[in-house]
Amino acid sequence: MFKKILIANRGEIALRIQRACRELGVKAVMVYSEADREAKYVKLAEEAVCIGPAPSAQSYLNMPAIISAAEVTDAEAIHPGYGFLSENAGFAERVEKSGFQFIGPTPESIRIMGDKVSAKQAMIKAGVPCVPGSEGELPDDPVQIRRIARTIGYPVIIKAAGGGGGRGMRVVHTEAALVNAVQMTRAEAGAAFNNPAVYMEKFLQNPRHIEIQVLADKHRNAVYLGERDCSMQRRHQKIIEEGPAPGIPRKLIDRIGDRCVAACKKIGYRGAGTFEFLYENGEFYFIEMNTRVQVEHPVTELITGVDIVKTQIMVAAGEKLPFSQRDVQVRGHAIECRINAEDPYKFVPSPGRITLWHAPGGPGVRVDSHVYNNYFVPPNYDSMIGKIIVHGDTREQALARMRTALLETVVEGINTNIPLHRELMVDAKFMAGGTNIHYLEDWLVHHKR
Ligand code: ADP
Repeated sequence: MFKKILIANRGEIALRIQRACRELGVKAVMVYSEADREAKYVKLAEEAVCIGPAPSAQSYLNMPAIISAAEVTDAEAIHPGYGFLSENAGFAERVEKSGFQFIGPTPESIRIMGDKVSAKQAMIKAGVPCVPGSEGELPDDPVQIRRIARTIGYPVIIKAAGGGGGRGMRVVHTEAALVNAVQMTRAEAGAAFNNPAVYMEKFLQNPRHIEIQVLADKHRNAVYLGERDCSMQRRHQKIIEEGPAPGIPRKLIDRIGDRCVAACKKIGYRGAGTFEFLYENGEFYFIEMNTRVQVEHPVTELITGVDIVKTQIMVAAGEKLPFSQRDVQVRGHAIECRINAEDPYKFVPSPGRITLWHAPGGPGVRVDSHVYNNYFVPPNYDSMIGKIIVHGDTREQALARMRTALLETVVEGINTNIPLHRELMVDAKFMAGGTNIHYLEDWLVHHKR
């Protein structure tokens, strides 16, 4: 096992990884920007290094600063968390070239999965079902583009190969709008992702977003840890996640889970990862793979009892997965609400000083948050200030526990989306389970404030 690792991230995930290190008896080096000097995990740290000014480009995305922080503190490995450099193959490569372990998959795996066209091709080869679409990148010729769309059938969606974070996508309903849409997406993709390649998929009308969590070691062992339903999204951003997915038969999940495990073995995947699918009419369609720990990983931790972050560190150190697929049992139901510093209905970010913070508690309630009384939420980063995750024997019990937890939570001084979560937890359709990826957007239109 490593003696010391550096955590190249901020916010709740930095604290989460720090906690895993303490459990493992591994020393953790925290890095922070000038805006995060007062962060809880920095105050709790045995060692912390300032890596630059507030803007991410100069701190959390500053590769030389992070690598030299690892050098001066004698860390052996770097955990990238999520976001920032976590899916940057070039960073993983530089980390390893500098003599550190990157706590994640190989740069090659990151590169293949980071390009959605090559990711889809790898999945098709590995027998994972994908959304019907163009074979690879779209050509320039308008005649060929129209022919591909006609074969797939309208509506179609044009997606950037290098896209992420819900950006670089355009839905097309008619042939008249097609070629223009392809050109616009290409131009945007070139500017935003430095990669003008686009591809085409059938646009599924009412899918749910279902994802499979996997863990793999360096000895070709891989397991899947059940699924999460992340259909409650606004602008392609998840805000509520749960597991298991309501109403999806276990044998369908097991079948797709087995495919994901086979794909991991085939591509030599290692570490934690998530296969994201759209699910419609009993069928799964792969859309992308995240090659890192995800925000919603606690949902899976609560229903399986597996510590995903600890296991990530253990397998990066070369240890074998300490359990096999047969040992993985899903028990009860878990729900996560992401708490964002923002107006609950207008979604305008609301950074600033938290004058009062009271976290919920009680049976089956977990709070992953780096904030505290009098903490200042800096305006420079993502608005998520924490997560409330609950576990119950049944979905009904988990919902009841989440309602109580949200009722107990007090955040003053800034706006949060807690009022929205409170409303959604008593919404009849959400309570019934199985809402699709458009449900929340539609709900917001009909519940204008
Ligand atoms: P990103 O990397 O930007 O998150 P994804 O490929 O994961 O992009 O897609 C994000 C979201 O966009 C999905 O969760 C879904 O809501 C929507 N989406 C993507 N592809 C399709 C499709 N073929 N049909 C319908 N919706 C889609």
